[in-house]
Amino acid sequence: MIDLENLNDPIDISIPLSFNGPQPNAYGVEPAKSKACEAGDIVGDTRRGGSVNFEQYTFITHCNGTHTECVGHITNERISVTDCLKDVFIPAVLVSVEPESTGSEYLITADLLQTSFMPHAAFASATLAVQSGLIVRTLPNDDSKLTRQYGEGNIPPYFTTDAIEWIVGSGLRHLLVDMPSIDRIYDEGRLSNHRIFWNVEQGSFEINSATRINSTITELIYVPNSVRDGEYLLNLQIAPFEADASPGRPVIFKIA
Ligand SMILES: [Zn+2]
Repeated sequence: MIDLENLNDPIDISIPLSFNGPQPNAYGVEPAKSKACEAGDIVGDTRRGGSVNFEQYTFITHCNGTHTECVGHITNERISVTDCLKDVFIPAVLVSVEPESTGSEYLITADLLQTSFMPHAAFASATLAVQSGLIVRTLPNDDSKLTRQYGEGNIPPYFTTDAIEWIVGSGLRHLLVDMPSIDRIYDEGRLSNHRIFWNVEQGSFEINSATRINSTITELIYVPNSVRDGEYLLNLQIAPFEADASPGRPVIFKIA
């Protein structure tokens, strides 16, 4: 089923993070920055006489670019994405959806997801039972997403409750989206969709025996229009941070 030739053709669906350059942003936080380290006479910049480049990076994982997060994002207990992410090669479906307008906002509903997922139902039932991913590209889609500033003046689409319930009910373990959050960007801190996705009680900061501990959410991806909807093998690449989230570089491979 997996054509080995396709393994030579990885499709990167992350947003490259240009430190000190144009980059996406959520909530108007400080942009990601880099700075050459200095220690005594030593400077981490070859252009300034250093023997090598070594820089200090400052960023806010959840707001400055593509990142993968685990349930530790909403728990008092510090749970790390490195511990939670066990799956390496993940059968995944890429769908494009045109969120429904409510007048002022755009919603991704269960109906939209189900309809776009339907052509892949056979693949899903054959391969998605154990570990599985859903990659959602929102329409319209263009490369302004690489540097988009999300905030009060630019509310991204978000999922309805029933959409997330459908994802969980379908057994999909990993969710990848091109918005900064699967919840409304300003939802008074409820993060209700995150709680449904991980199976954490609403209002709670604790996991329970039914919590989907090995599930992840990846936000602020970018899937170029040249990549077609369909069935892929997904590799979620993260830095091995002992933190609730890590910058990430999801890569997908076409399944023949
Ligand atoms: Zn996040």
